Parts: sequence; C-alpha cells; structure tokens
Amino acid sequence: MHAELKQPSITQHENDIASQVIASCVHCGFCLPTCPTYQISGDELDSPRGRIYLIKSALENNEYSSKSLKHLDQCLTCRSCETTCPSGVKYGKLLEVGRNFIEPKRSILQTLYRFAVRKVLSTPLIFKPVGYFFRHSKIISKPIKPEKVKSTVLLLGGCVQPTLAPNINHSIKNILAKLDVRVLDDRQSDCCGALDQHLAAPKDALSKVKRNIDKWTLELESNAEAIISSASGCGVMVKDYPSLFEESDPYFEKAKRVSSKTQDIAEYLANQDLSGLQLSELNVSYHEPCTLQHGQKLGGLVESILSQFGYLNTPIKDSHICCGSAGAYSIFETEIANKLMINKLENLNASQPEMIVTSNIGCLMHLQKGSSIPVKHWVELLDA
Ligand code: SF4
Ligand code: SF4
Repeated sequence: MHAELKQPSITQHENDIASQVIASCVHCGFCLPTCPTYQISGDELDSPRGRIYLIKSALENNEYSSKSLKHLDQCLTCRSCETTCPSGVKYGKLLEVGRNFIEPKRSILQTLYRFAVRKVLSTPLIFKPVGYFFRHSKIISKPIKPEKVKSTVLLLGGCVQPTLAPNINHSIKNILAKLDVRVLDDRQSDCCGALDQHLAAPKDALSKVKRNIDKWTLELESNAEAIISSASGCGVMVKDYPSLFEESDPYFEKAKRVSSKTQDIAEYLANQDLSGLQLSELNVSYHEPCTLQHGQKLGGLVESILSQFGYLNTPIKDSHICCGSAGAYSIFETEIANKLMINKLENLNASQPEMIVTSNIGCLMHLQKGSSIPVKHWVELLDA
C-alpha cells in the first residue's frame, strides 16, 4: 500500500509513522485469523487489515465517521496481529495515530465519560480511595531485608496496582531481598502514560512520560542498575518511550536509556540464581498477557522460570488471544471483553488448576471477575 500523508492536525512525527506503517502492509490477510475481534464479529472492518484501510482513508482523504471510530474503539491493542504479520507491520503505532486523528468524531457525552475514567485510573491520588473498594488482595507475608547488597534496582509502583494488589510488589521485594538485591521504591505519582496514550490523549501521555524519564534518569545516575516493572502493560509502554520522540528531540536519547534499562520482573529473574527460592503452588495455569508476548516479545519466559520449580507447562488453547482486559477496554467495550474473558477462563481451567497466575494487574482483575478460583501474579508464588 502506498501512502502520502500530510495531515495538518497531526504532528510530522505522526504523519511519518502513519505513512511508513501503511506502506508496509501488503494486505495479505495473514493477520485476520489471529485477531480476537475479527474472530468474534467476522467483519473485515474489525480486523487489522480493515482498520488499516479505515485509518488510511481517514488520513489520506478525510473520509471517516463515527462508525470508523467504533471499529477502532473495538480494537484491543493486543498486537496479536503484529506477531502474526510476515511484513513486520507496526500496527499498534498506526492505531495510535488513527485514534488521535478520528477522536473529534466522538460525542461529548462519551468524551466526558472517557476523560473521567482516564483521570481516575491514571491519577494515584484519586484512584487510591476509589480503588480501595475494588481491592483484590492484601499483603500476606512479612517483609524481608537483604542481608548484604549486591545490586540495586528501581521498582515501578504502577498507578492502580499498589491499591488493588499490594502483595505483588511486596512479593518482588522479598524475592529480591533473598537474592541480595536492594529495591528502591518508585512511588510513582504519575502513571507510565499508557492509559492516556491508548485513549487518544497524547499530550497528557507525553507530559507524564517526560516527568518519568527525568525522575528515573536521576535514579539511574545515582543508584539503580535496572528499572523493574511487575505489570507487563506498564513495561511495554516504558520500553516504547523512544518511539514517542523524534530523533532530534532532547528526550529521545534519555528515553532510549530508560527503555534499555527497563525489564519485566521475569527478564530480571531469568538472569538470577533462583535455587534458594521455592514455589508455593504447582497446580496453576499461567495466562500470558498480550503486553508480554506480543508487546515485549517475552513469550514463554515465565513458564520457563516456573518450570525450574517443577511447574508442568501444559499448553493453553488459544494462548495468543487476549483475555479482554486490555487496559481500560473492559470498561468501555464490556460485551467483547466479557466474551473473551469467558473463552480465556475455559481454556485456562481445562487442566483443572487450583489457581490462575498472570503477569499484569489488568488481566488479573479482569479474569478474577469471572473466576471461582484465585487469580494472582506469578511472582506471589515465589514469595513462599
Ligand atoms: S498480515 Fe501484515 S501485511 Fe498482511 S494484511 Fe495483516 S498487517 Fe497487512
Ligand atoms: S491489535 Fe488485536 S484486536 Fe486490534 S487489530 Fe490487532 S489483533 Fe485485532
């Protein structure tokens, strides 16, 4: 597909990204069978190829409507299509540009609702008292301190996770203490920017991203050898920070440094000697979030860590398909999100586990809504 774009309402950087991505799609259709929304609706416009056409028409010819917006809203941003695509189409980047461009088609009521949800979820000070009523779990073990300090890392707090499931980062601190790693807490007064970025608020996202880059650069310069993320949805966003800046932007190099130092907790633990740890539960099913397998390309890593402790890696049917959580998606697109959750739980429960584990707070909360067995973060198993 050839594309010549020059939309005045989006930045030159966005124009360049969109032109490049649209031009790289050869409309072969290989991505269609692995797209969850196409599987559900069977409508080409709910597929990656259809959405690329919609965005192309909007950007090239200004042809778009509220229906185009609906088809883009229904995309989970799961990036399963990117994993399948033989041409390496960076669909997720194009979607962000398309959503920003078409956003003015949204009704005022919808705009206000989305604004309110975005602000509550991405502002820890506001979320804390609200989220307390939706709390998933409490801290269940005693804190451990490292006997000696071999290295120091910065642990991202996350904007909703500390309120909903504080035991996740608590477990990570205990595990790292046993490995003689000192943890610096990032209390994170700001969200990583993912919610704003996915809900067509790029300016809000960028100001959060810049504040985080400035803060974390100072930590890297003074103490921390790595930035650890325990929520794969935040991790993928932070690793993607450089793509938000043009190469001439002073933040580009700083973003590259922050990105290169950021690791999912699975990446960090995969390079450590874990022989002093043990697993508290073996009969578990692991749900691999899209942000880990399609976004960060770390598919299979958690299973390989757990298998060191005797976990049997039973294949999960359709493990590449999204559970329906997808950030704030499950709040706005409940019907599709619930269908995907039901399918996912059926597949995860096929081996009759006593617990489901995952790597992202959004998936954890979403799956727990429909699950009678506990859903936890996999690191909690290692804080035995
Ligand atoms: S698989 Fe890739 S190249 Fe083929 S239609 Fe999908 S996005 Fe385009
Ligand atoms: S990101 Fe996911 S839902 Fe969206 S088009 Fe790609 S595969 Fe489909």
